[in-house]
Amino acid sequence: MKPQFRIGHGYDSHEFKPGIPLIIGGVQLAHDRGLGGHSDGDVLLHAITDALLGAIAGPDIGSLFPPSDPQWKGADSSVFLREALKRVEAAGYSLVNLDSTLILAAPKIGPHAAAIRERVANLCQIPADCVGLKAKTPEGTYTENAAIAHVTVLLQKTSTA
Ligand code: MG
Repeated sequence: MKPQFRIGHGYDSHEFKPGIPLIIGGVQLAHDRGLGGHSDGDVLLHAITDALLGAIAGPDIGSLFPPSDPQWKGADSSVFLREALKRVEAAGYSLVNLDSTLILAAPKIGPHAAAIRERVANLCQIPADCVGLKAKTPEGTYTENAAIAHVTVLLQKTSTA
């Protein structure tokens, strides 16, 4: 019998690069640098995607959307998240809540936290009060030129499964 609940954990990091937009949690933030990567570099959506895939013991984001594949160049990372949510549903589960921690030196996330939580909630089709978002500065870790995201998700078996 399928377990009633499953948890998942996701982690991602991207390096800051000049001349590209900064997108975190599907929200574009005003900043002089953005996050490099093959897609739009959305470190938070990537970690959420991997947490969802991990919860159902699925393939990880890099296996599903290889950086070597030109079709994902500059891709909107919500595409990856939607695929993960589709797989969660197909596995007979739905997302209950998620919690996340962002680690970055700048910009300050506080003023944008409500917008990011709202956007992530919308993409995941859960209430905004089921999206946790904390931001930390990378003190003592020498990762000032990176943005790092940690995410935990809880899935519940759907009643029809
Ligand atoms: Mg990534």
